Amino acid sequence: MLNEDYSNENRKPKTIRKTKKNSNVTKNKKKKCNCRSGCSKRSCYCYKSNSGCDSTCGCGPSCQNLFNHLEFFFGEDSKCIANSCFSDWLVKNVKTSDALQNINREALVKKIIECGRFSEVDDDEDFKEWSQKWKQIEVDDKISHMQKLFRMLLSNDATTRYFSFCNDDLAEEDCDWHCSICKSCRDWREWHCDGCNKCAYGTSGPCQRCERKSEMFSFW
Ligand SMILES: [Zn+2]
Ligand SMILES: [Zn+2]
Ligand SMILES: [Zn+2]
Ligand SMILES: [Zn+2]
Ligand SMILES: [Zn+2]
Repeated sequence: MLNEDYSNENRKPKTIRKTKKNSNVTKNKKKKCNCRSGCSKRSCYCYKSNSGCDSTCGCGPSCQNLFNHLEFFFGEDSKCIANSCFSDWLVKNVKTSDALQNINREALVKKIIECGRFSEVDDDEDFKEWSQKWKQIEVDDKISHMQKLFRMLLSNDATTRYFSFCNDDLAEEDCDWHCSICKSCRDWREWHCDGCNKCAYGTSGPCQRCERKSEMFSFW
């Protein structure tokens, strides 16, 4: 009996994934917070993992989690979560969830499309299409089109590029990454050293500060 239950449980996700309601069921299994006095970046598990709180959290109306309002950037129906560079930028620049919703999205779009490397992505169909539509956008379509760009460059989803707030420029995922501990964008040759808790450079050899070996490149 127990065995049977268990295998049924295992089979579940495959068959029920399709409907929205059921995908929440699987989501509920994720660890959630149980904050009693608002959700701050110091104490809240959800906040610290850059995700919003929901009804399965124990925080209730006192919740101040910034990441509850990412639909402002990514659109109502999207389940996108913020990539680590964007998350750190939000935490640094936005103190409350009201302030988040006062961010000027059009200014943010401008910042992105005027950055140095944006002109280089014209060979990418998705960006080309986006830019063409943006040039002749109707007022009513503006918000959703801006959200599309944010999904492409500020979420964990989507493209091989992301917008680096650290460098004020586009970054490519195979070349750059954002270290959430050092809170800055790094070259692919860098890795976060557990020994001294800072990023170290170099694909061969140990950390130059503490001599700890890189786990990431150890197979070389
Ligand atoms: Zn919390
Ligand atoms: Zn929570
Ligand atoms: Zn909360
Ligand atoms: Zn960054
Ligand atoms: Zn680091």
